[in-house]
Amino acid sequence: MKTRKSKKLYKKALAVMPGGVNSPVRAFRAVGGNPLFIAKAKGSKIYDVDGNEYIDYVLSWGPLILGHAYPAVVKALKKAVEKGTSYGAPTSLEIELATLVKKAFPSIEKIRMVNSGTEATMSAIRVARGFTKRNKVVKFEGCYHGHVDGLLVSAGSGGATFGIPDSLGVPQSYISETIILPFNDTEAFKNTLKQHWKEIACVIVEPVVGNMGCILPKEEFLKTLREETEKYGIVLIFDEVMTGFRVAFGGAQQYYRVKPDLTCLGKVIGGGLPVGAYGGRKEIMSLVAPEGGVYQAGTLSGNPLAVTAGIETLKVLSKTSTYKKLEKTMQSLERGLKDAAKQAGVKVKFYRAGTMFCTYFTEKEVIDAQTAKTSDTEAFKKFFWGMLKRRVYIAPSQFEAGFISLAHTEKDIEKTVKAAYETFKEL
Ligand SMILES: *Cc1c(COP(=O)(O)O)cnc(C)c1O
Repeated sequence: MKTRKSKKLYKKALAVMPGGVNSPVRAFRAVGGNPLFIAKAKGSKIYDVDGNEYIDYVLSWGPLILGHAYPAVVKALKKAVEKGTSYGAPTSLEIELATLVKKAFPSIEKIRMVNSGTEATMSAIRVARGFTKRNKVVKFEGCYHGHVDGLLVSAGSGGATFGIPDSLGVPQSYISETIILPFNDTEAFKNTLKQHWKEIACVIVEPVVGNMGCILPKEEFLKTLREETEKYGIVLIFDEVMTGFRVAFGGAQQYYRVKPDLTCLGKVIGGGLPVGAYGGRKEIMSLVAPEGGVYQAGTLSGNPLAVTAGIETLKVLSKTSTYKKLEKTMQSLERGLKDAAKQAGVKVKFYRAGTMFCTYFTEKEVIDAQTAKTSDTEAFKKFFWGMLKRRVYIAPSQFEAGFISLAHTEKDIEKTVKAAYETFKEL
């Protein structure tokens, strides 16, 4: 595999950007070696600057559910750009996108567009605090909600509920308002609420965890979150930035039939442009400025380009045939990868929710951060490079989810499964 040009660009990039990238995981640190620099992408394929073609299962970390450069999205964007890229004033497009989102997510009565998932979660927490007049946030170990100060926290030792900052630059005082609990642990959750409910404004959760691979909630876990938060007047926030339109059209809340108070969206609803959104119950969202006293604003929020890409994407997703095709492709991939591992004699655990998935190199059931850590990351590293060599681009970390798109064909899946079998054999 020729990567001379990527290597040269990486060297240049390192001189002008921290780690040579604009977002850490792109730098391949978890797998070693040089990141690929990308020249273009189309459908299910991505092309690096050395001219190599790969089947792409990263899809910009989830947003591109229709595949790269989907014709209707490109066409609409070209038209939109001619009319100006941003006005800083309301447009009818924003109403159209809000209406499309509401159709998929009935729990969202009112919605506010922002520019990233991070902004969505940060703002949703602020509204929850304004609404409850309480300060503390409950989050779960291994869930990622963007780089919000108070959420960059990892569990302290000894199963204590008080965490330690996960990043330099986060004051201990910021995370003193965050309570961190293990995912899928219903008892720990109940006990914590019983003790601390008077101080807790909200509980934020990835209903299916996509940021430590792909971890499914136990049957009763999400239901317990709903019942208990309701009992104590705590706002339940589903961070569906990744799961929205991925686990199902109406996200994990549709699939698991649990209705949160607030929902955060991003990724897919921007169709590949920078977008986030948060919304939910009317009486909570009415507190957002200018209707209410919770301040939140954005120069480029709801800009016509991002909103147009979102509208065109959601239009395609609104057709039931879309999810039928996605499901069929995903089933082929699931079957193929499981068979390939079995035939090669490699023990893995494979999980998926809708069109997001993960293959863990472990024999243990993965149910939370601790069990996810039982994965053999050295085996994953070899798997990553083996797949890349065979022109399959997967996320360069064991703890990231994989994604498929509408553009992935049965032939893509066949090639991928063959590559996986050959790579598994090498481990
Ligand atoms: C990606 C992601 C975010 C952060 O979104 P950005 O647009 O990267 O800020 C937040 N929550 C979840 C669940 C995500 O997957």
